[in-house]
Amino acid sequence: MENDFSFETKLLHNRHKIDPATGAVSVPIQHASTFHQFDIDQFGKYDYSRSLNPTREALEEVIADLEGGTKGFAFSSGMAAISTAFLLLSQNDHVIITEDVYGGTFRMVTEVLTRYGIEHTFVDMTNLEKVKQAIKPNTKLFYVETPSNPLLKVTDISAICQLAKQCGALTFVDNTFLTPAHQRPLELGADVVLHSATKFLSGHSDVVAGLAVVKDEALGKRLGYLQNAFGAILGVQDAWLVLRGLKTLHVRLEHSVKSAQKIAEFLQTQPLVKNVYYPGLTDHPQYDLQHKQAQSPGAVLSFELQDEALLRSFIAKVKIPVFAVSLGAVESILSYPAKMSHASMPESERLQRGISNTLLRLSVGLENTDDLIADFKSALQDHAKNPVEV
Ligand SMILES: *Cc1c(COP(=O)(O)O)cnc(C)c1O
Repeated sequence: MENDFSFETKLLHNRHKIDPATGAVSVPIQHASTFHQFDIDQFGKYDYSRSLNPTREALEEVIADLEGGTKGFAFSSGMAAISTAFLLLSQNDHVIITEDVYGGTFRMVTEVLTRYGIEHTFVDMTNLEKVKQAIKPNTKLFYVETPSNPLLKVTDISAICQLAKQCGALTFVDNTFLTPAHQRPLELGADVVLHSATKFLSGHSDVVAGLAVVKDEALGKRLGYLQNAFGAILGVQDAWLVLRGLKTLHVRLEHSVKSAQKIAEFLQTQPLVKNVYYPGLTDHPQYDLQHKQAQSPGAVLSFELQDEALLRSFIAKVKIPVFAVSLGAVESILSYPAKMSHASMPESERLQRGISNTLLRLSVGLENTDDLIADFKSALQDHAKNPVEV
């Protein structure tokens, strides 16, 4: 918005490149909770840090610009951003939500919003007919996560936004997996973009943070009101860490995406790997759509192993990735959705969504790709040679 620089240049050369007061080339961390008012009749821009803080504001302006929005908001976690955005809804509203949504969002919708009289319908959003059938007179929100977690299904963002507009509903898109570097939902018609900035945006597994961005100014005022009312704001140290992580977003993602593509292709050739889910594979059902609406298939993939014994030995034998929850970091992260991100989903719901007990999710980091492939290869071969070990 502020200039015509390309995305990667804007990550470094934006309004907050230089502190106007001192020339400092890093955004100052403003710890103050309150601000002296010099004039009883006219208060300054800042009065109390829950409402507005200069360090948090810098991050909010940077993310708004990167997503092509008018207003950004920083929260204490991705779930705080998502939950606060849900407060735009009222009693008796209905939400249409993607089926394999992040486990925490599933919990919020099924266990919390229901107590406030907000209904929901889960649908496979890759099927527009099913989405249309789920529409009710009180549908006020379409909630999209694409590519989805953990099965990497791809939803047509523009098509959902069009449907939402026809029924006067809002569209929220969780853009955690691709970030504005590779997908910009506001340009495709979305109303609110949500992020777990804990993941790729910060990128170093050292901060928990959430972001929201809107394009419409009136909606921005409503969300700003809710951010202040609910109060789940991001602290200044963490805002600074996200700002620092953002500077390398483009190069980190570029490397990880290339690496993820090679690893997905390698896993496809392995007889002990049953299925590979990655929108960069030509046989992915929404391969074309992904290439149309996003700049890359992302750096997260999932794969299913032949059986649980293999899964256990694979996890025990791989040396490079950390075995952990979370994704989007400099180090590769291997996760077990059934016991991690989707542990809060009842088993029957989980299996119905295809999140089986033999599914692993890999978030590809910045290691040498061949090292990762060699590591996976030997973990699979060890088991093939010695299958009774576990
Ligand atoms: C991690 C994650 C969240 C939740 O974010 P937190 O920062 O952990 O609260 C939401 N959506 C997606 C897709 C995520 O990966």
